Amino acid sequence: MTPHRIPLARPDLGPAEVANVLDAINSGWISSLGAYIPRFETGLAAFCAARFGVAVMNGTAALHLALAAAGVGPDDEVVVPTLTFVATANAVRYCGARPVFVEADRTHWGLDVRDLEARVTDRTRAIVPVHLYGHPCDMDAVLAVARRRNLVVIEDAAEALGAEYRGRRVGALGHVGCFSFYGNKIITTGEGGMCLTDDPALRERLALLRDHGMDAKRRYWHEVVGFNYRMTNLQAAVGVAQVERLPQLVEARRRVAGWYAESLADLVRRRGLGLQPELPWAKNAFWLSSVLLPPDGAGAAEIVARLADAGVESRPFFHPMHTLPPYATGERFPVAEDLAARGVNLPSGYGLTRDAVERVARALAHALEA
Ligand SMILES: *Cc1c(COP(=O)(O)O)cnc(C)c1O
Repeated sequence: MTPHRIPLARPDLGPAEVANVLDAINSGWISSLGAYIPRFETGLAAFCAARFGVAVMNGTAALHLALAAAGVGPDDEVVVPTLTFVATANAVRYCGARPVFVEADRTHWGLDVRDLEARVTDRTRAIVPVHLYGHPCDMDAVLAVARRRNLVVIEDAAEALGAEYRGRRVGALGHVGCFSFYGNKIITTGEGGMCLTDDPALRERLALLRDHGMDAKRRYWHEVVGFNYRMTNLQAAVGVAQVERLPQLVEARRRVAGWYAESLADLVRRRGLGLQPELPWAKNAFWLSSVLLPPDGAGAAEIVARLADAGVESRPFFHPMHTLPPYATGERFPVAEDLAARGVNLPSGYGLTRDAVERVARALAHALEA
């Protein structure tokens, strides 16, 4: 008998989510008006200690909206890590601006702040630090560069809801913080996203651009070209229930990471497997528990295929942006390239048992021997 397949990241949806969605449907408010939207915005902002939330239809829209609201436009440069999901770079392109890539930091996999400083030019308008796989970037250093060079900081916190930098939750540390609520993220609304900010003027601009750029006081009057990036009340109904359980959901992710640390200890010692870091100033949200394969053996793509044969769903790390056709620059980023060649995301979702984690660890040991 083939054993049950272990998925990468299953969502956790329960009776509270179902009840809220039924309530939203019965209310008749199924589009982007309705009581769940402001409740979801207020709830997530409060959790992250931000003043305002602006809910949108997905995390990519949140990034685009944040950059647009911050005034990023053609001829601007925006500094982003090369090791990230493609949406970070795409959102910059949507503004007509140019993403400028930064090397990864070997200690936490986020952007290398020394390289960041070197990439800033007179055209640079914004920095987008990405809290990769749940580990926060060194935000004090990022913010110091931004202050010195008068740059906007848009956090891509899509993978790190609940993570903390020196005791403060990510997503509220720069000018705007962006989240995704895709099905495999820390919380989900099916598809969904949100921008957080403390700045009332930015909040207003985000809300304006989200809703066709329509004047709040004069219907069908549009001073600017906006977007329809609104979230539905049905999605927000799910989101409200998820936010209420957010502390437990973050703890569940961290518990899985702890199990991996125990189950993989032997491979770390004997084979030089690398575990996902958690630096002294960080609380990692462990969106996806991840490992770095030993440098002398099979690469990430091969190990992912062997794990799939054993019924374990895993993923290789993102291809660094500077290696993808739309962004190929001919540059080299040795740390990002090395992490990408050796990094594997392991099953990390809700409902994963300790036994399942041990099965993944055994499958990984076997895949490394093969
Ligand atoms: C998931 C993700 C996004 C995009 O979110 P969507 O909701 O899928 O649009 C952006 N950036 C990073 C780093 C992500 O992991």
